[in-house]
Order: sequence, then structure tokens, then C-alpha cells
Amino acid sequence: MEITHIEHIGIAVKSIEEQLPYYENILGLKCYNIETVEDQKVKTAFFKVGKTKIELLEPTSEDSTIAKFIEKRGEGVHHIAYATNNLDEALKEVESKGVRLIDKEGRPGAEGLTIAFLHPKSTGSVLTELCEHPDK
Ligand code: ZN
Repeated sequence: MEITHIEHIGIAVKSIEEQLPYYENILGLKCYNIETVEDQKVKTAFFKVGKTKIELLEPTSEDSTIAKFIEKRGEGVHHIAYATNNLDEALKEVESKGVRLIDKEGRPGAEGLTIAFLHPKSTGSVLTELCEHPDK
């Protein structure tokens, strides 16, 4: 497997609207996309930092995994997403090396990415996402 870069860092927030001023006015980043991913019951906001993005994740429902995360651990860094050129191959490879997968195959994520999560039990408690961009 080849990881090309950190695609994004996912940060769980209670309210995107409340956090926007920090990212825009203090850090000087520009939010260029706000998108709801129904499948994951989250609203996402994106900022570019070089090739890497910051992805704010706001739960849209109480049974969203993000809502549960915030309830348990509070707001903060939720996951790290690594970009790879071949997600299917990468998943097979890490599974063959004994890594537990949350997603056995890729599923649609925000921004047209195909994504899959690895289980934190296998990744030193850091929720890890692998993703592939359609026009990588
Ligand atoms: Zn993500």
C-alpha cells in the first residue's frame, strides 16, 4: 500500500456554525464546502491546508456516531484520513496483516471520496480512515 498524503483530519464539533469563526477569522482558512453526508448522519465543513484538509463533523442526528463520540469524549480530533491510490487493495493488504476493519469495502464519503475506516483497536486507538479520490 502506498499512502500519498494525509487527505484530511476529521474534527468532531457540536456546531459547525459556532466553530467557523475560529478557523476563518483566527487561522485565516476559508471554508469552501459544507455538505451533509446522509449515510453517516453528519454535516461536514472543509478547509484546505495545503494538500490536506480539515473536516469539521457535526452530527445531524442523536444516533450519529459523531454524536456518540462527542457524548463520550467531548469535541475534538475524531479521525485521521490517509489518501491511497487503491483503496480495495489497501484494505485487503491491511486485513491480511491482521488489522480489524470497520468497513470491509469502500463506501461513499464527502467530497466524492471513497472511504473505509480501520478499527481503533488495531491502530493504537486512533480512528483511521483510508480514502481514494476518483480523479487521484
Ligand atoms: Zn473523514
